[in-house]
Amino acid sequence: MKRVEIDDPGKLAGRLLEDGESFAFRCHPGISCFNKCCRNLNLFLYPYDIIRLKKNLGMTADQFIETHTDIVLRPGHHFPDVLLRMADDHEKTCPFLTDAGCRVYADRPYTCRMFPVEQGLYFQEEKSRALAHGSKGKSTARPVYFFRPPDFCMGQKETVRWSRRSWEADQDATFYSRMTAQWAELMALFGNDPWAGAGPDGPKGRMAMMAAYNMDGFGDFVLNSSFLKRHTVKPQLRLKLKSDDVALLRLGMAWIRLFLFNMETDLLRVNKKVGL
Ligand code: SF4
Ligand code: SF4
Repeated sequence: MKRVEIDDPGKLAGRLLEDGESFAFRCHPGISCFNKCCRNLNLFLYPYDIIRLKKNLGMTADQFIETHTDIVLRPGHHFPDVLLRMADDHEKTCPFLTDAGCRVYADRPYTCRMFPVEQGLYFQEEKSRALAHGSKGKSTARPVYFFRPPDFCMGQKETVRWSRRSWEADQDATFYSRMTAQWAELMALFGNDPWAGAGPDGPKGRMAMMAAYNMDGFGDFVLNSSFLKRHTVKPQLRLKLKSDDVALLRLGMAWIRLFLFNMETDLLRVNKKVGL
């Protein structure tokens, strides 16, 4: 149950699910492996997962991040990942697992919703452009999907068939997929190091982490600083900023693009009359 980033989808274990391909699967409380998959996981959390989980648990973003996550920077990556911290028991159980099942089921993370389908980000570089400029080139990412149940998962022996899209709809994951695809597009920009030597722990890195994962802190920054004077925010988005974490996350992703990569979008521009 983890996000994978790959150079070539054909290299990975699991079955690549092209559009239109189906797989057999059914999970239910009576199955012999019930809840066995909620242990010892590298469970990557996406920004929208945190919005849903902190609300479900009645926590602030700071409390959730402090209590339930580990922040890791994988070798060769320029933006940290956020993993759900497993319990400190011998099975490394998910902290939300109970005898009756998942206690945050309605707001379970995207990875859990899609399981045993895993999402990867397929990075492609514009090689001709890279050669012409002698640099790594611009990288684009698209999500790819694999059917990859662990051997102990008995659900794969059932007969109900799904496409990736019908499974996504059944698991109420369509909006999650959309948010995750937007996040993937942003992460593709981090193929190149934007930190100018300071690394992701520097001041810019900490601001970018807040804009991605901490909507309480980012909302405070946006609403109680000169941010809204210095930037032009799309009016429909601006109207929602006081009450909607998803609107803040959309703004946060647009701001990371602008702040680190100097890329304006329809959502966010520099107010030229004031400047940064
Ligand atoms: S291992 Fe597979 S079938 Fe068993 S509970 Fe987990 S997802 Fe369901
Ligand atoms: S969040 Fe819920 S579904 Fe996901 S691993 Fe934990 S208990 Fe299982």
